[in-house]
Amino acid sequence: MNARRRGQPIGGRAEGVVEADETDPQPAAAKDPLTLRELDAIGVERLNGVGPHRRKALRDVGVESVFDLITYYPRRYVDRTAQAPISEATIGAEITVVADVAAASSRRLRGGRQLVSVEVGDASGSMSVVFFNQAWRERQLAEGLTVALFGKVENYRGRKQMTNPVVDLLGDRTGKIVPVYPQSETAGIATWDVASWVAEARRRCSPRGIADPLPRWLRTRLGLTERSRAFADIHEPSSMAERTTARNRLVFDELLRVQLVLRSQRLAREAHELGIAHDPSGNLVDAFHRRLPYALTGAQQRTMAEIDADVSTVRPMHRLLQGDVGSGKTLVALHALLVAVQNNHQSALMAPTEVLAEQHFIAVRALLDGFEVPDGARLSGTRPLNLRLLSGSGSATHRREVLVEIATGTADIVVGTHALLQESVKFGSLSVVVVDEQHRFGVSQRARLRESGRDDRRLPHLLVMTATPIPRTAAMTVYGDLDVSVLDELPPGRTPVVTHWVRGPLAAEAMWSSVRTEIEAGRQAYVVCPLITESESLDARSAEQMHAELVAGSLAGLRVGLLHGRMPSADKESVMARFRAADLDALVATTVIEVGIDVPNATVMVVLSADRFGIAQLHQLRGRVGRGSHSSACYLVSDDDPTPTAVERLTALYESSDGFELAERDLELRGEGTLFDERQSGRSDLKLASLARDLHWVQAARDAATELIEADGDLDDHPALVDEIDWFSSRRDSDYLQRS
Ligand code: ADP
Ligand code: MG
Repeated sequence: MNARRRGQPIGGRAEGVVEADETDPQPAAAKDPLTLRELDAIGVERLNGVGPHRRKALRDVGVESVFDLITYYPRRYVDRTAQAPISEATIGAEITVVADVAAASSRRLRGGRQLVSVEVGDASGSMSVVFFNQAWRERQLAEGLTVALFGKVENYRGRKQMTNPVVDLLGDRTGKIVPVYPQSETAGIATWDVASWVAEARRRCSPRGIADPLPRWLRTRLGLTERSRAFADIHEPSSMAERTTARNRLVFDELLRVQLVLRSQRLAREAHELGIAHDPSGNLVDAFHRRLPYALTGAQQRTMAEIDADVSTVRPMHRLLQGDVGSGKTLVALHALLVAVQNNHQSALMAPTEVLAEQHFIAVRALLDGFEVPDGARLSGTRPLNLRLLSGSGSATHRREVLVEIATGTADIVVGTHALLQESVKFGSLSVVVVDEQHRFGVSQRARLRESGRDDRRLPHLLVMTATPIPRTAAMTVYGDLDVSVLDELPPGRTPVVTHWVRGPLAAEAMWSSVRTEIEAGRQAYVVCPLITESESLDARSAEQMHAELVAGSLAGLRVGLLHGRMPSADKESVMARFRAADLDALVATTVIEVGIDVPNATVMVVLSADRFGIAQLHQLRGRVGRGSHSSACYLVSDDDPTPTAVERLTALYESSDGFELAERDLELRGEGTLFDERQSGRSDLKLASLARDLHWVQAARDAATELIEADGDLDDHPALVDEIDWFSSRRDSDYLQRS
């Protein structure tokens, strides 16, 4: 079937793709259970009731093959054994009612709100259901339709009523547990259509069954059900417990595929990649450490030692450095960068945006001010360390100059954006790369590194830093092939930041007066302006406006600076220098100050329209204060009436200052989509598994993958598993090609 060279990563290539054809699989194999690859080769149009029109509709929701269909999982289940008859529904209780629609009507209320009233009934009685501002409900809830309504029962003028309940259309389906599929009104797909197609697909598969590639011992050990059974029960469970058992099995499969690919890639990488071995101890690094005005934290020391061990071998480092805001990642990065320079190689520090690259450049320049590197060609034996910023904003001549220095090796440390990975940037001898990634540096960029290296194809050592901690599950999945270091200790002398949530004009007034009090006591404040659009120029304008307003109003008489991404670099630097020197009392800024700014005397952070920021960003902003010995405050100013998710975000910030905890909350609120790079293992493969909720299964899958790969890197004893992973990977690659 699938010829594989030994030592090649599984899931790494697109070979062995079975063309979707209209003939049945060969008779020789016809007795074997159907593999997922085979199910994916059967188009949904082969099912009864799926004509050209339905086929197109299904394609719009991503369902083209029978495999797609049986993994088009129910979004919810209505447990009819737990439903209450209307007559027995207690006022004030949250319940599910299954009833038929008798009539629906709508009218406009005074003040412009649209009211849809629906009469529903079951064998025991009737009630009314009202929806505000959901005009489409009148069309949706056609007479005669059976619906499940979940909500709180109220008493309205002596009758039972629900307001804005969760509605699931059930059609005329029976059964104790009714699966509710994601439906699409625009595509014209109803949940009962999906249910009937899935049922037909399963019926047609049943003579052969669906193959189970998991070794039996593993299934037994983990208490996992057989796969055909799982596919049956996820769609038509006879109890919610059965559905959970089914889900566990399918979740495990999804996660195991990802983990096997990661483990096997890692094995292959270790066998093939060659980097540069460094001597981590030497004058330059020593001098750097001697010059630090404080002692390293234990976590910093440990991490530096881990990096030293990595870079002193020819096996390229692939390490993820996680550390909360203020945990001191910059020093660790610098240590790694300097080890390269000390060994007569170059190093690079990359940030996701120009502004952040500039911030890093400024921070690093301050720390390396006056540093000399050995230079045999000079009489003195040394020359100044050459730190360069490669930015898109400088002049073309300057850029050319820097490129030449990079190519000849005279630039020791280069700071820039991911543009450093462009083909036009050739390093003389790049041996260490540090990436400050903020969720954005993915597998595809890491692959680019491979090409940006030296002519002798030696790979640079790679350290990926995350400014926001990543939940453990995600680290194991998205970055599963990396080693991980965690800075879990803050430098001493930090005072916790008190967080206030400011709602309404009165609270805002009180806040500004506290800000003035702090400033009068000699402290300084940041005021961060709302992020309005993706456009830097609009943000800049809003910051300018806010600056003018504050100078004329709440902060009148104080020295207030302005900082935004559109200012020329020199202006930005001079504003920052003045703020650092306490020549400014307050700094009105856009989120350019999110990372890299460190002014211990600044003790107040005001974030305007905080409801428009994400958790990670707010946590970063808050991390700009609380860096000195004075107590600090962070004010999150929101609308009077923020959206429910904004409320959850702000509450999370208000309740916790632990970056890891916040990262977990963020993952729960936003889902995993945001974590993955386009091509990264896992993204489209995780249909059921949730990185926020399935920690146990992520761990189990990782352990199983390690065990399988360690026993046999090529998985020769598990051809079905290998075939499935190869097929999955090729599917993902072709998805990717279609999308780009
Ligand atoms: P991060 O990038 O992890 O958010 P930084 O590297 O910006 O954190 O460090 C935050 C602050 O802590 C900086 O002012 C830095 O100089 C200071 N710092 C770093 N390490 C130590 C240490 N071991 N002891 C005292 N202060 C430290
Ligand atoms: Mg930092």
